[in-house]
This record gives sequence, structure tokens and C-alpha cells, in this order.
Amino acid sequence: MAFEGLAERLQSTMQKIRGKGKVSEADVKEMMREVRLALLEADVNFKVVKEFIARVKERAIGQEVLKSLTPGQQVIKVVNEELTALMGGEQSKIAVANKPPTVVMMVGLQGAGKTTTTAKLANHLRKKHNRTPMLVAADIYRPAAIKQLETLGKQLSMPVFSLGDQVSPVQIAEEAIKKAKEEHNDYVIIDTAGRLHIDEELMDELKQVKEIAKPDEILLVVDAMTGQDAVNVAESFNEQLDITGVVLTKLDGDTRGGAALSVKSVTNTPIKFAGMGEKVDQLEPFHPERMASRILG
Ligand code: GDP
Repeated sequence: MAFEGLAERLQSTMQKIRGKGKVSEADVKEMMREVRLALLEADVNFKVVKEFIARVKERAIGQEVLKSLTPGQQVIKVVNEELTALMGGEQSKIAVANKPPTVVMMVGLQGAGKTTTTAKLANHLRKKHNRTPMLVAADIYRPAAIKQLETLGKQLSMPVFSLGDQVSPVQIAEEAIKKAKEEHNDYVIIDTAGRLHIDEELMDELKQVKEIAKPDEILLVVDAMTGQDAVNVAESFNEQLDITGVVLTKLDGDTRGGAALSVKSVTNTPIKFAGMGEKVDQLEPFHPERMASRILG
């Protein structure tokens, strides 16, 4: 299960302070040492951990807890609130354009789950928001990506726009949006090309697609299992493309949690969805509060 190690460690740390009627400064410091180690071990970004610990300490050692001599519960509440804030606070919703179609550009490295997530998102938009999305196969480099999207589209009975792999993604995006307007599809979700690593050519091409498609949303799909790497990838994509949100995939796996806990602070873009499995209905809106509560038990 995801976050297992982190959850276990934090819960046992919290347990020690939970029942206390009075919490001394030394208690808080000792606890924060343990929390710090647990977060680092879960692969949370070093700077993020440092800032997090500082914020909790300030609140827990300051007015809020010690001077009022509130019990240990109060400290736990502070940790919970800060953990929620770390992951973005409020749940962040997907964009809706004033004038349809809303254009969503999916970006990310190969293997992150981009094509799968494109279909999952379309399914979510139809099921939960009554939308009529069109999927766009613009990943012309990965062998079988187009076919994969077409298969998923068929499975969902949803239109997939494709011009094969000999036409540029820019042209595919442009024509797809035109077609969506004609067909009255209210969302256009573009599955763009990924690479194994970030390179200039990839970014240049994505920038061109962005310029033509004028997306209302650029969602970066990252594999939560890759921990710190996921955060580095997010940082690079954000610098180049100004992403508007992140989808963390494979949160059903045994990820230690680092990506989920760092990506928002490092990139200042919200995690909008979480992939919870390989099936098309296994995509969930990301709820920071619920995630924090899950971790703290
Ligand atoms: P792309 O190269 O980024 O388009 O990646 P794909 O969409 O082809 O996904 C790569 C692999 O990850 C596939 O085997 C997917 O089934 C799998 N995958 C995608 N999202 C999830 C998820 O949330 N959980 C799990 N367990 N697997 C996923």
C-alpha cells in the first residue's frame, strides 16, 4: 500500500504525544525530529521537509499549543493541517473554458501513464460532469500509443481523433480542435508525445502544440513511484511549459509518498488527480485533506 512506511512511522510518533495533557517544548522537538526522519525516509524533498518542520514547530511551540497548555491532540491537529497544506490545501478542480471546447493538454515522460490517464480523464469528465470529450492521439513517437488510445476510446465509446504518425502533433492538435468545435465536443484532451528523458526537442514540440492549442489546462502526468525524480520532472516541465496541474499515477502501488508530498510545494502547481490503478475508472480527484488523514491514521 502507498505511504505504508510513512503512515506507520508518523502514527507511532503521534501516538506518543496523543494522550499528553501538557506538551513541553522538548516533547515537540523530539517529535519533530522523528517526523523529519520519517518524511526524509519517505523520499520527501529535503527543502520541503525543512520548511514543513519549521512551520509545525513554530505553531506547536508558539501560542497555539504551549501557552494554552493544550493537550497532545492539538499538536497532532497542527501536523495534520500542515500536511494538508503541503499537498495543496483545498481540492483543485479541472478547468472549464468560458467558451467550449475546454482544451486539456496531457504531458509527461514515457511510461508515466499519460495515454491511460487521457482515457481515464475523459471517462471521469463524462461520468461525473456530463461532458462529451474528444480524445486526441498526438503521441506519434511511441509505437502503439495511437492504437492504445484508439482501443481505449472504443472501449469507452468515445471519439478519438487521429491522423496517424506521419503528421506533426501541432497539426493534429489544430485539426482536432476544429473538429471538436464542429462536433460539439466540450472537452478536447490531447495525448502528447513523451520521451524517456526530458530533452529540448520534446519541449520545443510541446511548446508549439501549446501555442496552437491554447490549452485551458496543461496536466503533467507523473509516476508517483519515482519519488524525487517525479518532483524533478515536474520542476522541468513547469519551467518550460507553465503546467497548470499534476496527475500522480500509480498511487495504488507501494510508493513511499515523496512525490505526493513534495510536488505542490516545489512547483506551486496543484495535484488535481490521482491514478489508483490500470483500469479506466481508476482515477480520483486528489483530496489533500483525505490524503493527510490517511497518512496520519
Ligand atoms: P505513457 O507512456 O505515459 O502514455 O504510459 P501508459 O499510459 O502507456 O502507461 C504505462 C503503464 O502504466 C501501463 O501499463 C499502465 O497500465 C500503467 N498505469 C498507468 N496509470 C496507472 C495507475 O494509476 N496505476 C497503475 N497501477 N498502473 C498505471
